[in-house]
Amino acid sequence: MPRRALVGLARHSLFLGLAVYLPASYRPGMSAVFYDTHAHLDYPDFAAELPEIVQRAATAGIERLVTIGTDLESSRKAIALAERFPAVYAVVGWHPNDALAAPDDIRPELHELAKHPKVVAIGETGLDYYRLPSANCGSIAEDEVLKKKQAEIFKQQLQVADEAGLNVVIHTRGDCFEQTLEIMQPFTPKVRGVFHCFVNEPAYMQRVLAMNSIVSFTGILTFKNAQTVRDTLAATPMGSFMLETDSPFLAPVPYRGKRCEPAYVKEISEAAAQVKNCSLEELSAATCKTAKTFFCRLN
Ligand SMILES: [Zn+2]
Repeated sequence: MPRRALVGLARHSLFLGLAVYLPASYRPGMSAVFYDTHAHLDYPDFAAELPEIVQRAATAGIERLVTIGTDLESSRKAIALAERFPAVYAVVGWHPNDALAAPDDIRPELHELAKHPKVVAIGETGLDYYRLPSANCGSIAEDEVLKKKQAEIFKQQLQVADEAGLNVVIHTRGDCFEQTLEIMQPFTPKVRGVFHCFVNEPAYMQRVLAMNSIVSFTGILTFKNAQTVRDTLAATPMGSFMLETDSPFLAPVPYRGKRCEPAYVKEISEAAAQVKNCSLEELSAATCKTAKTFFCRLN
């Protein structure tokens, strides 16, 4: 239900003396804006209606969209989108799932892309041991080749981030959390990471924060079976997390299973405010400030 309708309904019901449902975090007359700190707007899923996607986000109060590159071509597209839409910013890098397609040294081109004034971080990068070749009829030897290449391009991206004065967007999935921290360690605390789509227990979040890094939460927060994720958010201090959609993936309830888009940060923020037991305005102030600090060129 749109906010304006809720206000109308609240006034109307006051007049009639009826009780209506309002979210605990709802405060009439105040606006809460949010950012989508992780979306893949260059994916073909969005090609036919990008202006509408960006407009729907603005209408929902989602004022900044950070689109994330997954290889050099996708990173160039992310920059082109940032040039086309004032609300869009870009992150450039190479995703671990596509590691084998990467050239031996991605640093020179990434350095060039990172100079763009609307590039706000490097990534997404990291490790993914969830989709290894051996899980799909491949061999253990093939797993090792992929793991080695993922680690190599992860280190290269940390070097570029370090030299460019940018932070990194981290993807870590499967049994590789320790290895991810180990590779990052020499670059901390100067280079900070956002461990995106965070789904681990609170103890893992504490280890991320201990490295001067932060976490971000997706629409998984709204899933019935995701109590662990809500427990982790509850334990995460304000100022140490951001919100994201990971569009086109992970649409929150009530859109679960459909294509996700940045406007749905609204549903994610409502769930997050419930978990943090705070107002949408408090959540807005904290998460937007965190994003502006983390993505130093975001304004
Ligand atoms: Zn992503």
